[in-house]
Amino acid sequence: MADRLSKIAVVIPCYNEEEALPVTAEHLLALLDKMTEQQLIAPDSYILCANDGSRDDTWGTIVRLHDRDNRVKGISLAHNRGHQNALLAGLMSAMDNCDAAISIDADLQDDPEAIVEMVKLFNRGTDIVYGVRSSRHTDTWFKRTTAHAFYKFQQLMGLETVYDHADYRLMSNRALHMLSQYGESNLFLRGIIPQIGLPTAIVTYARNHRVAGESKYPLSKMLSFSIDGITSFSARPMRWIFMTGLILLFVDIAVALYVLGSYFFEQHISPGWTSIMLSVWFLGSLILMSIGIVGEYIGKIFIEVKKRPRYAIAETLLD
Ligand code: UDP
Ligand code: MG
Repeated sequence: MADRLSKIAVVIPCYNEEEALPVTAEHLLALLDKMTEQQLIAPDSYILCANDGSRDDTWGTIVRLHDRDNRVKGISLAHNRGHQNALLAGLMSAMDNCDAAISIDADLQDDPEAIVEMVKLFNRGTDIVYGVRSSRHTDTWFKRTTAHAFYKFQQLMGLETVYDHADYRLMSNRALHMLSQYGESNLFLRGIIPQIGLPTAIVTYARNHRVAGESKYPLSKMLSFSIDGITSFSARPMRWIFMTGLILLFVDIAVALYVLGSYFFEQHISPGWTSIMLSVWFLGSLILMSIGIVGEYIGKIFIEVKKRPRYAIAETLLD
């Protein structure tokens, strides 16, 4: 990397961002200028806006920005496919035309200055640099608490993610190519990228308010995002069904002893109570365990149909 300056692509997913984009583009272009001057990046580094089927004039805004400065480039999806898909489309479009791509939201809530540090780390050979929020004081209490609960729950479900890292990160060309091998349609980048496993680093920054417009991530979208994240990575919930059934089977033994004890030694037992109690507990645990076993098989199918790459070769020395 030393003999040649690295070409950087800043990829921005945009959904209804006509208000924020001009401010964001101006800010990022100034940053690219500054970094070019400091000989950190190649002068043909650029910004790639991925319009996610916006209903406002986001695409027109991108076209005007491109006319003014052709370092602003764009792609436009035919339909709103959601943040993760728009981001992937942008990254894949940039993949063959950059040494590293940085993904950032259109609202500049993530401090763009962190890009400088990310690029320095990349130039020293780090493939993936995660932007991590040092504080979330500008988020509402509600957003902060729900987001943290989400991270905790993911960990509990056996999902490997970086704490307080959203989708603000740098990926080297090599990492992008590895990402392109993941064929799943249920995309959760934050879960996939740690699995790639190349040299990684973290850059911390303070999170700001949106520059313009309002959040496109209401609670309903966050919730479905988190459910997607867990269910596309973990078959653990199914194992839990089986475990619950197994635990209930042991409880069942205790209940059976109690019920039979009552039957033989107590005077005022209603007729039928003993047999109903015994069958309800026994059958309940049996049913749960059976569902769990079926779930284990579905879990295997679920992992297999993804056809994820089974390994990623980081370096070769074959000649
Ligand atoms: N976004 C997108 N498609 C969507 C929703 C959002 O491309 O369906 C983009 C949006 O334009 C922004 C980024 O995803 O660049 C993050 O969205 P937002 O800032 O609204 O989320 P928050 O920061 O409130 O979680
Ligand atoms: Mg935002």
